[in-house]
Amino acid sequence: MYWDESVESLSRSELDALQLHRLRHMVERVSNYSFYHKKFADNHISASLINSLKDIRKLPFTTKQDLRDHYPYGFLCVPKEQLVRLHVSSGTSGQATAIFYSRGDVEHWAELMARCIYMTGARAGDTFQNLTGYGLFTGGLGFHYGAERLGLLTIPAGAGNSKRQIQLMKDFGTNVMHIIPSYALRLQDIMKEAGIHPRRDLKLRIAYLGAEPYSQEVRRRIEEFYGVRAYNSYGLSEMNGPGVAFECPHQLGMHIWEDSYFAEIIDPVTLEPVPEGTIGELVLTTLHREAMPLIRYRTKDLTRFMPGDCPCGRAHRRIDRMQGRSDDMFIIKGVNIFPIQVEQVLMNIPEVGNNYVIVLQRENNIDTMIVRVEVNEKIFIEDMRHLQRIQKKITHDLRSELLLTPQVELVEPHSLPKSEGKAVRLVDQRSL
Ligand code: ADP
Ligand code: ZN
Repeated sequence: MYWDESVESLSRSELDALQLHRLRHMVERVSNYSFYHKKFADNHISASLINSLKDIRKLPFTTKQDLRDHYPYGFLCVPKEQLVRLHVSSGTSGQATAIFYSRGDVEHWAELMARCIYMTGARAGDTFQNLTGYGLFTGGLGFHYGAERLGLLTIPAGAGNSKRQIQLMKDFGTNVMHIIPSYALRLQDIMKEAGIHPRRDLKLRIAYLGAEPYSQEVRRRIEEFYGVRAYNSYGLSEMNGPGVAFECPHQLGMHIWEDSYFAEIIDPVTLEPVPEGTIGELVLTTLHREAMPLIRYRTKDLTRFMPGDCPCGRAHRRIDRMQGRSDDMFIIKGVNIFPIQVEQVLMNIPEVGNNYVIVLQRENNIDTMIVRVEVNEKIFIEDMRHLQRIQKKITHDLRSELLLTPQVELVEPHSLPKSEGKAVRLVDQRSL
């Protein structure tokens, strides 16, 4: 039932003890190297301060800006001869950052990924199609090595080229796939157009969805259409990539692999821990990385710890579906909004298709929020009355959720711009 029983079956107190041991060791190690060497010396920090897990609060945070300021080698903790891999974060929010891996890091990452995949019930004999970008993006190689380690027949399909993806699925009986949620929605449209019904024509059983925020409603659409159980997968390049937190078969939040990562959730303004169960910014410390350990890295991702124990028996704590990044939030007419809130409303309306974009504009000092929504292909775009009814319904539902009235524009299926990789849900033209 476990891929790695020695870690997955640890009790809470055993996990705490392991974390404390590894944390001390990590602090001791990084104290001798570049960025942390100076930072710790300046702040009189040493491993002797760490006597309980709470003492992690005595350590300084690390930010993306720190990584940029010390680009490219400033965070290395091993000699360059020990590096075997380099990834670069996709740069969704500005300049990219470089992440280095030792042989041990690459091995351990593959172990973590194998653990995730195994947890959801995939086994040797299954065929795994990886539909995310290979290359600098960590999602491709991260899943690839984990799946191979576990013994799945692994197809490194990469992103895009949908016709070939479908052909591969048919020819090799793909039953497990990894796919970015916005691409899963697009592929759904392409399959529909081609008359493919996955439940009838394909063998898909499991999907891993991650790399961008998406709502529970999108998960539901993907599960229904493809006939799969879809598991949420969270990670970021700074922490290897995927494999930081993953859902078990109960789908009640993602278990953080606490033997390898120490997680905190803080108030992004006061930087203090939030009360249990409250949403805040996830802060992660690596407990196992050799080449580039990071201490209290501020992810900017907003989530909360799930209360209680998971029925699967793993004591590794769980985090909730991400609400987005703190910098995804936009303010319009004094209201704070996350794109995911808009998505939740839209995807609950059956006439709404699989793509949308939020556009913010400013004219004469007045802000407007335009929500452009593709209708699904069953809707006759000529039937004005019907369209007006849908538009009214969307506006009404968005107003109830957001407490302001956006301008809703309905557009034809497949007409909105698509992005390779992560979806762009917000276009802010107010500063133009
Ligand atoms: P970039 O920060 O440039 O996008 P990464 O490819 O490392 O580079 O992406 C990591 C980020 O992707 C995370 O910090 C998070 O914002 C987002 N992400 C990853 N997995 C998920 C997920 N399951 N749900 C929501 N967001 C996710
Ligand atoms: Zn569980």
